[in-house]
Amino acid sequence: MAAANQHYYATRDPLGAGGDFTTAPEISQMFGELIGLWCADLWDRAGRPEMAWVELGPGRGTLAVDALRAMAKAGLAPPVHFVETSPVLRAAQAERVPDAVWHDSIDTLPTDRPLIVIANEFFDALPIRQLVRGAAGWFERLVACQDTLFLPIAGKQMPDAIIPEALRDAPPGSVIETSPASVAILRDLAQRIVVQGGALLAIDYGYAGPALGDTLQAVRGHAFANPFETPGEQDLTAHVDFGTLAAAALVERARVAGPIGQGAFLTALGIDARAAALAKTVSERADQIAIDKARLTQAMGDLFQVLAVTAPAWPQPAGFA
Ligand code: SAH
Repeated sequence: MAAANQHYYATRDPLGAGGDFTTAPEISQMFGELIGLWCADLWDRAGRPEMAWVELGPGRGTLAVDALRAMAKAGLAPPVHFVETSPVLRAAQAERVPDAVWHDSIDTLPTDRPLIVIANEFFDALPIRQLVRGAAGWFERLVACQDTLFLPIAGKQMPDAIIPEALRDAPPGSVIETSPASVAILRDLAQRIVVQGGALLAIDYGYAGPALGDTLQAVRGHAFANPFETPGEQDLTAHVDFGTLAAAALVERARVAGPIGQGAFLTALGIDARAAALAKTVSERADQIAIDKARLTQAMGDLFQVLAVTAPAWPQPAGFA
């Protein structure tokens, strides 16, 4: 999954109508603006420290442009750091945010100041492992390759002790997913945030796990595809287990808010007022603005979840009521 996605993102811009999928910042400027205001409000209540603004997997840089514009209006113009591996998307980001500093991984992010980190549809692209319940216990699912044919096969049996207790006796065929890569990144960032100050905001389709379910999916040309077909040529994702990510942050003694639905979050941040103001300024687009708002808050409203991680010494983040 890691290798397939690495090739996939390195060789194209997958976003938008002509690509494979569309994300919240590409639907409406309101999304990035409200996230920018979330950052500015938190920074302001934290005493306006010198900080760095970080985005993980910034796509085309659309969220960053909208967020930075909103932050600047609130008096916040921080240095921008992007964690991005795709050269194609780095080029798109450089057109929009030329002053950004790019990183291959979180390892090289600044260590001398608070970080506010945004991750929209980033964790879903990181590789997962799947464990499948057989008659005798749990087995890791592996992928076999014969010529160009890829197939899921049973791997070796896992000790029961590594299966969350509540799920251990699930019926045969049940699937548990874990994303060690996501947990490692979340934990590392939570640790830095506790030491340096700051916050992380992760938004993705997900659930408060651990839970049962096979959520591995492939998307191509805005339609679902077989994840084992043409690896590297279609987007592979899995739903994000926010329960496990939150637990990883708590281990590092960070504070956690959420997960809550994207709809409730954006409504608490004032998307209704922002949509009304926008519709007034560009009245010919009023209908489209209403459609976009409904897509962000209703269609995506519960499927997409929002989790915040903050330093214990920082104020409570807005939006989680
Ligand atoms: N946040 C953007 C793009 C989401 S697509 C949006 O909401 O529109 C996923 C993004 O994560 C892409 O920019 C992709 O290149 C990047 N990405 C995927 N795997 C990555 C990895 N392992 N390290 C860094 N970036 C990665």
